[in-house]
Amino acid sequence: MKPATKSETCVRATTDQQLLDAFLDHIPDCVYFKDCDSRFVRISRTLADRFGLTDPADAVDKTDFNMFSAEHAQQAFADEQHIIRTGQPIVGKEERETWLDGRDTWVSTTKVPLRNHSGDIIGTMGISRDITARRLAELELEQYKTHLEELVAARTSELTGAKEQLEQDIAARRVAEQQLARKAQELDRSNRDLEKFAHVASHDLQEPLRMVASYTQLLARRYTGKLDAEADEFIGFAVDGANRMKQLIRDLLSYSRLSANGLSLTSADSGAACNAAITNLHEAIVDSGAVVETESLPIVLADASQLAQLFQNLIGNAIKYHGDRAPQIRVAAHLEANDWVFTVTDNGIGIESQYFERIFEMFQRLHTRKQHPGTGIGLAICRNIVERHGGKIWVESQAGQGSKFLFTVPKKKGEGDQ
Ligand code: ADP
Repeated sequence: MKPATKSETCVRATTDQQLLDAFLDHIPDCVYFKDCDSRFVRISRTLADRFGLTDPADAVDKTDFNMFSAEHAQQAFADEQHIIRTGQPIVGKEERETWLDGRDTWVSTTKVPLRNHSGDIIGTMGISRDITARRLAELELEQYKTHLEELVAARTSELTGAKEQLEQDIAARRVAEQQLARKAQELDRSNRDLEKFAHVASHDLQEPLRMVASYTQLLARRYTGKLDAEADEFIGFAVDGANRMKQLIRDLLSYSRLSANGLSLTSADSGAACNAAITNLHEAIVDSGAVVETESLPIVLADASQLAQLFQNLIGNAIKYHGDRAPQIRVAAHLEANDWVFTVTDNGIGIESQYFERIFEMFQRLHTRKQHPGTGIGLAICRNIVERHGGKIWVESQAGQGSKFLFTVPKKKGEGDQ
């Protein structure tokens, strides 16, 4: 048989009483034995410390009512009486202890029936461990959790509100966009109808007008000076009216033709288009003594005949709206970012800045017919042509200082790129 070690010898020599004493003196948990009336019979040193007793023996015959609030002591008493009655243990119950001095602590307690050698229940015994620190941490954690949940709930409700608002905004915008698209469609249709109307009306009016014009001219030729002075004046009015109407209808037709004919984009020589315009204006140039200078102009992607019409209207205006000096006109172009910027500069009467936008609208004129004849359609045609080519047109001017009309034509793909 294997000889006993030194420690085994010592333990074996120790009595049960000594073992129990050692256990109760040194175990860091609270251990107690109680009789059937829940009076302490014996407690561990740790429990004595907890009760504030210097000697564990001082607890003998005391009850929980001497240490804790009546409410807590009553609950512990009821638990122990239940164990005594039923023999059922209570294992690992976490309970809050309220002390007489008002403190609160937490313990995890296990209580079992205390039996004698014959197995009869003669009281209870229990062991409990202070879990206050853990419990406080848990409580704090719970508070944090609640706070966090509140924050999340508040944020969620804010976000839900924002989302609902956003959804409403999106829905409203969608309705607005649909309305806008419908309006744009209606506008487009009505524009096309109007253009068609203008085209048909001006086209169909030409024939009867030609008739009126030629017969009034015939009247003028045959009867001027043969009737009385008033009749001469009336015939003069009729001839003048017919001529103006002819011009108006011609201008309206050229405006409506822009959309009727569509755009035929090719590599167009803007210099040639400008020269064609100058040739068409030959008579006006000679009559006014105008000098038109043209710098070298680029090849652009454009409808050549519309480009020529654009130059003709701008140069024609530069001649028409001259001041006291003979018209000096310069046509030039330079590359700026993605556009060719064309300029038609004159030394004429100029335009006040408040009219810079208005003059590009249909029938908008700044002068009476007596001062300068015209229909107010020329610049509207220019704007239409430029915008159909993807550019924009504007004017820089000062009254009495001449004007500079500028328009852009997008440069061809790859043109001027490094
Ligand atoms: P119209 O010349 O038939 O009146 P436009 O549409 O060509 O019509 O021009 C509109 C108005 O803009 C003109 O009545 C004139 O007052 C002004 N305008 C146009 N070009 C010039 C210019 N080069 N210098 C001064 N004013 C101009």
